Amino acid sequence: MLIVQKFGGTSVGDLERIANVASRVSESKKAGNDVVVVVSAMSGETNKLVGYAEHFSKNPARAEMDMLLSAGERVTASLLSIALQEMGYSSVAMTGRKAGIRTDTHHTKARIEDINPQNMKSAIAQGKIVVVAGFQGVNENGDVTTLGRGGSDLSAVAIAGAINADLCEIYTDVSGIYTTDPRIEPKAKKLDKISYDEMLELASLGAKVLQNRSVEMAKKLNVNLVTRTSFSNEEGTLITKEENIMEAPLVSGIALDKNQARISLMGVKDRPGIASDIFNKLASAEVNVDMIIQNKAHDGTTNIDFTVPVGDLQDSKSVVDGFVKKGDINADSYNEDICKVSVVGVGMKSHTGVAAKAFSTMADNNININMISTSEIKVSMVIDEKYAELAVRGLHDAYELDK
Ligand code: ASP
Ligand code: MG
Repeated sequence: MLIVQKFGGTSVGDLERIANVASRVSESKKAGNDVVVVVSAMSGETNKLVGYAEHFSKNPARAEMDMLLSAGERVTASLLSIALQEMGYSSVAMTGRKAGIRTDTHHTKARIEDINPQNMKSAIAQGKIVVVAGFQGVNENGDVTTLGRGGSDLSAVAIAGAINADLCEIYTDVSGIYTTDPRIEPKAKKLDKISYDEMLELASLGAKVLQNRSVEMAKKLNVNLVTRTSFSNEEGTLITKEENIMEAPLVSGIALDKNQARISLMGVKDRPGIASDIFNKLASAEVNVDMIIQNKAHDGTTNIDFTVPVGDLQDSKSVVDGFVKKGDINADSYNEDICKVSVVGVGMKSHTGVAAKAFSTMADNNININMISTSEIKVSMVIDEKYAELAVRGLHDAYELDK
């Protein structure tokens, strides 16, 4: 097999851990695989470099920041390669440039445009373990760029796509994807497999193990992703296309997002174009609107309720104020003490009653549902935040996710 193995900051956090990574990589190699390793900076290293820059400037040039921040990953890549060579393996460390990673020119948040895998491929053909510095590339002017914080996952997935790897393993300090947050529900179980779409829903709903951008790219490039821990030999979770999951469970997981606020607009003038006006203004203010509900009131006006991330609340208020001043909206209210619980599973595409069960679980627990939205693979409910944990545990039980 051709395997990409990516090790995050905590997995290469000190020299001893880098030595552990070297032996793990060597085991894959000994087992007969070709291995490309992608590494992050040692944990805390990138923040330390940011701090150094801030010592001199509040607003350092982004190009210099890229030059600076890309250094952290180079340190890890070269140390790991040295460790491997010392163990008797043939290996080579590569910068993003040497690995052929071409990006656009957006310093500190560049996008990968394409990868020329020539250097990696010829090193692999020579039997070498290739160790690539993650998080970095080079733009058309030859300048070093970085991919945005946490971007080494993205490097790994993109490389796996470019060299057609059989597998891309992402090693972190958590052992995989769980049916729900084990801190809320200790009976949560690790999933063996999950589809890209389910993973994207779970991640955007608050389960942060992998960057969404990386999962999206894995889906686009059809890369089989595994998240697992580098601290034990425990198997991780495979994230793959739906067709590869034979017996998709009805429900794969329960996600919780406490970072939501509800905005209620009352007495909204009922005329064509009003919703378009309001939500276009919100979009221009870069407010990320999620659920929307509109109801007709008796007096010919409407009420519109919607949710936004708590961080977008201030911007939303300014937009709404404008409409209140013009008399398009009578009254507005804001509630931060809400949360969104979601039931996610591709199995619900072909089954009925999944949503009904979610609602009756809320009823059994005496939890009032404020808003509902559904998609093919998800049922989301907005409820009072104080019931968040109760709801998650109730749903986890109802769908028997501990079995
Ligand atoms: N070292 C970079 C960061 O801390 C990239 C990464 O770890 O993925 O953001
Ligand atoms: Mg990281």
